[in-house]
Amino acid sequence: MAKIGILGGSFNPIHAGHMRMAVEAREAVGLERVLLMPAGEPPHKPAEGMLPFAHRLRLVELAVRGVPRLSASGIEGTRPGPSYSVDTLTALRAKMPGDDLHFIMGSESFMALPKWHRGLEIPHLCSLVVVLRQGVDGQSLAAFAEETWPGTERTGFGRMLFASGTRLITVGMPVLEVSATDIRKRWRERRCLAMLVPSVAEEVLERGGAAYELAWGHRAEL
Ligand code: ATP
Repeated sequence: MAKIGILGGSFNPIHAGHMRMAVEAREAVGLERVLLMPAGEPPHKPAEGMLPFAHRLRLVELAVRGVPRLSASGIEGTRPGPSYSVDTLTALRAKMPGDDLHFIMGSESFMALPKWHRGLEIPHLCSLVVVLRQGVDGQSLAAFAEETWPGTERTGFGRMLFASGTRLITVGMPVLEVSATDIRKRWRERRCLAMLVPSVAEEVLERGGAAYELAWGHRAEL
């Protein structure tokens, strides 16, 4: 049974924080592959300012080239309406019955699960890999999991077992306080994006184009 990671997000655009998160999760858990999956219609983000799906997916495809065991997946773009993770994970379970799926999330996303559409069901669909971000420690995350999903047990350092038998694995990573919001702002200001986004994505963003300005706003004149 192959362990497969799934990293969803709006990826508007993909940046170094996302890439590093995928690599850290893969190494820490021994994932055979991590699928980076841009949301067709991100349910937690305003539609305004969102680069069209095809562009966000293209940037992810370019970014993963040459990075071992990372792949892009456009599966969320094929479903109309908001891309709810609960639906995606249910579909993937049916499509990949022989694989052990691990949904990768930042700690702030994990702690927002009770507010997501059927978010409380997500830990029962597959195992979760939660990457600790600034301001959250492993202890408070474990306490949150126990309170939110009764019957959850601590099984070791940074490891828990949900009542349904799926696991929660906590992973640390070097803090990279990069956000897509900040990248978009720098892009509008025509500032250099080197080291903040994968270099191939940087080249595409540097060229820009109508779709980018339409979504992210007017760019400073040269
Ligand atoms: P935006 O700034 O547009 O809100 P974002 O940069 O937070 O976007 P998302 O696509 O919304 O990126 O995030 C997808 C996943 O990546 C989430 O689980 C989030 O926790 C995680 N993530 C985003 N930025 C980082 C980062 N710098 N370090 C680690 N994880 C990150």
